[in-house]
Formats: sequence, C-alpha cells, structure tokens
Amino acid sequence: MSNPLAIAMLSIHSSPIGILGTRNNGGMSVYVRALAREMGRAGHRVDIFTRARHGRKPAVTRLSANVCLITLTIGAPTPLEKGDLYRYADDYATAIEAFKADARSRYDVIHSHYWISGLVGRILAKRWHRPHLITFHTLAALKTNTGTGSPSPARRLRAEGELIRNSDAILAPCQTEIDNLTRFYAAPPDRIWQVPGGVDLDHFQPRSRKVACRQLGFAPRDFILLCVGRLAPLKGQARIIETLARLGDDEHLKLILVGGDGPEDVEQQHLQQIAAQAGVAARVVFTGSIPHRELPAYYAAANVYVQASHYESFGLVGLEALACGRSVVTSPVGILATLAERGQPGLILTDGSPGAMADAIAAVRDGTKVWPPEAIHTAVREFNWPQAAASALEAYAQAIHGNPATGPKSPCGAATHTAAL
Ligand code: UDP
Repeated sequence: MSNPLAIAMLSIHSSPIGILGTRNNGGMSVYVRALAREMGRAGHRVDIFTRARHGRKPAVTRLSANVCLITLTIGAPTPLEKGDLYRYADDYATAIEAFKADARSRYDVIHSHYWISGLVGRILAKRWHRPHLITFHTLAALKTNTGTGSPSPARRLRAEGELIRNSDAILAPCQTEIDNLTRFYAAPPDRIWQVPGGVDLDHFQPRSRKVACRQLGFAPRDFILLCVGRLAPLKGQARIIETLARLGDDEHLKLILVGGDGPEDVEQQHLQQIAAQAGVAARVVFTGSIPHRELPAYYAAANVYVQASHYESFGLVGLEALACGRSVVTSPVGILATLAERGQPGLILTDGSPGAMADAIAAVRDGTKVWPPEAIHTAVREFNWPQAAASALEAYAQAIHGNPATGPKSPCGAATHTAAL
C-alpha cells in the first residue's frame, strides 16, 4: 500500500448508523460505512463527520478498524430539518475544525456525501488547502425531472452546479449517473471518477426459498413480488401496486414492500389508499424498515424483485437482489439499466410502466424466463466493497498527488475515469 491516508468523510445530514429504509437513511449510509470500513481495513484512517440530533451530546464512536464516527452539535436553537441544514454549513465547518484542533488531527483529503456535506467540505477544503471530492448520491435536476414528489429548491440545483465546478473530483457510481452529470450539469468529464456501489457477497447469496418463506411466515406456494427501499414517490412503489392489480385477481400473488417509517408514515398511508382503490389491499404487505442483515431472507423468499424507481443514482437494492440470485424486473435507472445493456442474467429491463412490468413478471411466473440463481449471483460478483474502496482511493491519490489517471477498472467494463476514455 502507498502511504496511509487520513480521510475526512462528511455525511452531515444523515448518520451512517441511522435506521436503514427510513426517510433519511438508505443507500448513502450503506455506501459511506462500507467504503470507510474497507479503507480502514486497508490501513487508512477515516473520520466520518455527521450532525448530532437536537439535544444530543457530541460523541466519537469507533465503527471499525481505523474508522470513527464523529457526531457534532452546532448549537442551533431548534431541531433542524434537512431542508434547513444548508444555512449552517459554516457552523458545521467550524465545529469540524474545532474537533480537528482538539484532537490534533490532520487530514489529507475531504470526501463529501450529498450536496449539504459538499457545502461544508468546500469551506474546509479552502481553509485546509486540501483536495475536496464529492459524491452526490442524488441530483436535484434528475429528481425534479421525474415530476414525482415536490421539486428540489433552486438553491440546491445552484449549489450542486457550483460544487461540480469547484470540486477536485466528482465520484459517480455508474455510467448512467456519469451521463446525467455531463448532460444536466455540464460536468467536466476529466474530473468524474466512477466509484461503484457494492454488495456484501458473503451475506447476499442465493439460498433456499422454502426455508426463507418458513422463517418469515410467508406461504411458499404464493408468488411473491418484493420491493425494498424508502417509501417515496421517486421509488415508484405506486407503479408496483398498479402492476399487481394488472396481474389479475389471484389470491396467491402477493407484494411485500420493505422499508418506510411504519404505519404513521404518510407515504405508506398513501400507498395503502392506492392499493385499496386498485382492489389489492389484502395482498400488499408493508413490513416497515428491516435491518440490513435480515434482508437476504426477504430476497430469497421473493419470486421476483421489482424496481420501479423513476430515478436512481445507483440503486443498491437491485444489486442485492441479483446477488441473492433473484430475477429482477426494473425500470431503466441506475446500475440496473447498465447491467441490462450488457446482458446480465436474471434481469428484465422495462420502461417501468405497470403494463410492461406485468408482462415481464408474467414471463417469469409462467417459466418463459428462467435463470439459475448461481449464474445471476456470479455475474454481479465484481460489485464488492473492497473494489469500490480501491476505486475511491485512486481518485483520492489523483486529487492529492496529481498522479496520471490510471483509469481504475469499471464494473461496467469501460475505463472508469472518463479522462481515460
Ligand atoms: N435497506 C435496509 N432496510 C430497509 C430498507 C433498505 O437495509 O428496510 C437498505 C438496502 O438494503 C440498501 C439501502 O438500504 O442497501 C438502500 O439503498 P438504495 O441505493 O437502493 O436506495 P437509496 O436509499 O440510496 O435511494
């Protein structure tokens, strides 16, 4: 290994140890934690900075070898909503600076996650004269473009544009997102690095469907559709409910929706209404959020994993379902769109409309489309966290030393660093 780095990772709005599948915790938390863990394992030191919930004390928690989570308070008078955090970027930067001085730390590089962290990272990069890299996780222009949910505020769009112009590197998880960055933000290709998401392949593996159904209390003779993720219009769960209705009045056809904040979740209530109107309420199960370690059983119990998102920056869940050897029917988003182009076994790409998804699911159900689970799993083995961390470290090295781009290998088969294309 080259010299160990000291890395300041910023995940200000969302803690990497928050409850996954709830409003502010999903793929970004999994990604930050896994990337840091692998970097720590490789001998680098990673401090992840996040905000403390209102009234909580600042704390330093060891997450794994060489990785600490530092929760900071900034003395705001009231609990802060995510939408207001941008106002406090200076305060968070000052709090991080005070921590650094107290701990007599130094950092070689700053890696921000999401635009709010980016604002803080940008301030620190100027003060410390260190390179600043950013992963957006979602882009306002793309989110707004889908027409789902409320449009992102103009200030976010502006901030993302400025961060793209001023950061030393932009890390994007897949080719679809690289295309989005260049098309919607005119991002300079020579500063975009592809750093994919990953899956814990030892944990997410094919396993017996019967055993999984028994474990979870599902009937093995039921044909189960599964979708995992935060409940949000952008995630397209409504389209899956409509798909279920199109597949006919069959009591053995069920839809399990994993994720969300439970019965009080406004989006869950909205989806329940849609299911009632479509006449399928009795066949849609809302589990609420499920711990990440327990998810392989859910993927195993499913006959088809359905992703109907209107936009994904990457989409870890689809990859997890494939790693578990399940057939996946998807809309054309994120990494699954790219994988479909290269002929990934187990994957059926649709336009995301209920009609097209219903046809694809019917083809799996009637045996027209069948793949061996092991073949599905094997084809996504390259998406592992050590590889993802290695790609990020190459981008850091380039930003710190100005090394010539070596173009880390991309899981999509092309050179990752678009400068090398
Ligand atoms: N997740 C989880 N439990 C849940 C819902 C989601 O562990 O109840 C995890 C899921 O396994 C995946 C992540 O949260 O690793 C969601 O990531 P994805 O990229 O699919 O969506 P995002 O949240 O980034 O939009």
